[in-house]
Amino acid sequence: LDARKRYAAKRPNSAVLHREAVQVLPGGNTRSVLGYAPFPTAMARGEGCRLWDIDDNAYLDLCGEYTAGLFGHTESRIHSALHDAMARGLSLAAVGEAEQRLAGILCSRFPSIDMIRFTNSGTEANLIAFSAAQVVTGRGRIIAFRGGYHGSLLYYPATGSSLITAPFPVTLCDYNDIDGTVAAIRSAAGELAAVIVEPMLGSGGCIAAEPAFLAAVAEATRAAGAILIFDEVMTSRMSGGGLQERLGILPDMTTLGKYIGGGMSFGAFGGRHDIMEIFVSKVPHAGTFNNNVMSMAAGIAAMGEVFTAAAAADLFALGEGLRERLNAISGKAGAPLQFCGLGSLATVHFRRGRIDRPYASTPDEEALKELFFLDMLDAGVYIARRGMTALSLPTTERDLAQFTAAVGNFLHARATLL
Ligand code: PLP
Repeated sequence: LDARKRYAAKRPNSAVLHREAVQVLPGGNTRSVLGYAPFPTAMARGEGCRLWDIDDNAYLDLCGEYTAGLFGHTESRIHSALHDAMARGLSLAAVGEAEQRLAGILCSRFPSIDMIRFTNSGTEANLIAFSAAQVVTGRGRIIAFRGGYHGSLLYYPATGSSLITAPFPVTLCDYNDIDGTVAAIRSAAGELAAVIVEPMLGSGGCIAAEPAFLAAVAEATRAAGAILIFDEVMTSRMSGGGLQERLGILPDMTTLGKYIGGGMSFGAFGGRHDIMEIFVSKVPHAGTFNNNVMSMAAGIAAMGEVFTAAAAADLFALGEGLRERLNAISGKAGAPLQFCGLGSLATVHFRRGRIDRPYASTPDEEALKELFFLDMLDAGVYIARRGMTALSLPTTERDLAQFTAAVGNFLHARATLL
């Protein structure tokens, strides 16, 4: 209660904005993830990996726009590509060089992508990948995983179900459950179009897949004559060629999104020639802004110049080091707090022991998560409300020392509650 009071006292302008916003925006926002009690912090501006809210509180940005903000807020090469593109006009209603160049960069980077198409979001990329799999196989069913998030209409909670879900017949399996998943794939074989899996559950808690699980899913999916889709919307940052390259396990199709558009709206799906060729003449796929000049220009600078394979490796190592340090101080304090994840993505969990699949949080765990979020904000560190952190390229070890100290203080100050 005290933490909430302190939160509200430091953010009078955010409180007013929220009161006004709820009049015209249901819940006060257009992205449900950004709505939380008592009211969300509204940001005014960003620079590098720093943010300032509309009450002029400053933060280290570890939310990283839920992984889309990989480049920070003011990457000069991306900004100059955007200015150049803007100067040449915005809505050209035609194919262009930029679209082809970005496609070329992505096909050469991701080992399983022979051909690619663009969308405006990861949600769209997954919806169309699902449909493509249905056309190619002549079957309808999709297998997905509890706790998987593939977009606003493609969310499969750990328990219960989402009230708005795209109307694909879906069978849900448990993440990292080899036997159960293989059995489900076999029994659905005759009607199975695709299996979609995040190689690390992102929104579901930054829970990594065991390589043996992904390999077994790949083998069973192919034996069933279905298409394996890796949703790498979040995980593609794990190496130059995505988590698939790091693991050496290749899907038939891959979906991408988030940071790849350099911070502009972006989505893409791609894969094997024989699958993608249905879009040559058989299947139409349109979208007014699919090749919009801003996303294409920013994407070329982002992926061609800034987020090289070497930059991806460095960022991965930075994140691994951070998670190790955080888990070490938590272990030393004997606290039931751990950071799960891979490379530059992590989520805090308030339970002991190995976490290999999503779970229903207890009310105590939920309360600790909120307290952690509020205490981090109070220490000038902006993380996702659900406890996720996503590092961005401008982040330095010095920045991370601020976060490590804040977590250390939390463990000390809240010891009696843990
Ligand atoms: N797939 C994954 C793994 C995601 O994490 C997300 C977004 O968080 C999406 C798909 C949906 O992408 P978008 O928000 O661009 O629709």
